[in-house]
Amino acid sequence: MSYTVSFISLGCAKNQVNCEQMMATVQAAGYTIQIQPEGADVVVVNTCGFLASACEEAIGNILEMAELKKAGKVKKILVTGCMAQRYKEDVLKELPEVDGILGTGSYGDIADAIREVMSDTVRPCHMGNIHTAGQSGERILSTPPWYAYLRIAEGCDNHCAYCVIPSLRGKYRSRPMEELLEEAAELADSGVKELLVIAQDITRYGTDWSGEHKLAELLRELCKLDFHWIRLHYLYPDEITDELIDTIAREEKILPYLDIPMQHCNDTILKAMNRRDTKADLVALVDKLRSRIPNLVLRTSLIAGLPYEDEAAFEELCQFLRDERIERAGIFTFSPEEGTRAALMDHVDTEEAKRRTELLVDVQSDIIDDYHDSILGQEREVLCEGFDPQAQMFFGRSYAESPEIDGRIYFTADDQVEAGTFVQVRFTGVMDGEITGEMVS
Ligand code: SF4
Repeated sequence: MSYTVSFISLGCAKNQVNCEQMMATVQAAGYTIQIQPEGADVVVVNTCGFLASACEEAIGNILEMAELKKAGKVKKILVTGCMAQRYKEDVLKELPEVDGILGTGSYGDIADAIREVMSDTVRPCHMGNIHTAGQSGERILSTPPWYAYLRIAEGCDNHCAYCVIPSLRGKYRSRPMEELLEEAAELADSGVKELLVIAQDITRYGTDWSGEHKLAELLRELCKLDFHWIRLHYLYPDEITDELIDTIAREEKILPYLDIPMQHCNDTILKAMNRRDTKADLVALVDKLRSRIPNLVLRTSLIAGLPYEDEAAFEELCQFLRDERIERAGIFTFSPEEGTRAALMDHVDTEEAKRRTELLVDVQSDIIDDYHDSILGQEREVLCEGFDPQAQMFFGRSYAESPEIDGRIYFTADDQVEAGTFVQVRFTGVMDGEITGEMVS
């Protein structure tokens, strides 16, 4: 029996890879994947659940599908991913419209679960072991054909006090290097030009099976494949080795763009959050990276309103950002998540945390403006990603912009430029916070 299946994937790129694997599993089972949920037999809502706000977004999507179900435009709803893992009982009890759920240890059961819900005999609840769940498998890419994610590990052992991810994704498990290189070779053969290396923490790669940091070795092997750009996300500060820095500095394909979530800079707060760095460590790391990697662009994540953050500590965070001039930053408001130690600690109220978030965003936007001013007149390689009919300009990204989280480069060109190709662009201005330019070759 064949069924039509539609997927909605929420949250981070790691969850997106899970969705890509589920799509391949479903297709291999002989089912048909369709983009639009309307008319599908089954809609799979692949949820994020690490923040209350993410759970609200997931519930919003599920209720939207429930309306389609009531209207007879969808037969069954399956909920997968982190919110299913975190709140399985509540989902089954509070959302009767949901026909079945799969936790983060059971993505591989998606075809079985579809058969079960369509049999109308059972309300499946697959909750596999999150510490041993498999990670490999075919994928149907959901990114544009010129870039793709390579998730090199699952889970996390850092246990930051504000974070529920270790309880949703299990202990840290690096994927075997041969398997990763096989998957990467397939991606390169399929025309992927930009490979984004991701995990909850990529810097720990290999330590769980060899006790040694193996990321640098993996990257050197990946550089032998036909990628143009290799981009690194989610580096844990104190796991960045000299060997890794040397490899990044030496290998041309590895972009001088590093995403290093720091979360805060105040020593008391970092300690209370079970972060292993001090402010001095972070400042020294930034100095070392900037001195060893030319034209480095840094991205980080910061949380405003963390426990024990008084006015002075918040001002210290603002000054840290001003001093270190980190070019890209995701600024988040502390969310006291149920089940975390941080939720039980003393912290400012949400209004105050939001006020501080806005102030930090202002500090960051000044830094971005200065950065943009500093690169005007430069020529950089840009990966063209399309044409914007409204702006009447092509758009794309240079090494300094990661997809979906950083801005775009808008540029003019005399001739048609194909999406997925690399061109040289001279930066001539800024439009609504985005760099503009003209193609030079
Ligand atoms: S490093 Fe910390 S914040 Fe990131 S996933 Fe692990 S526990 Fe969560």
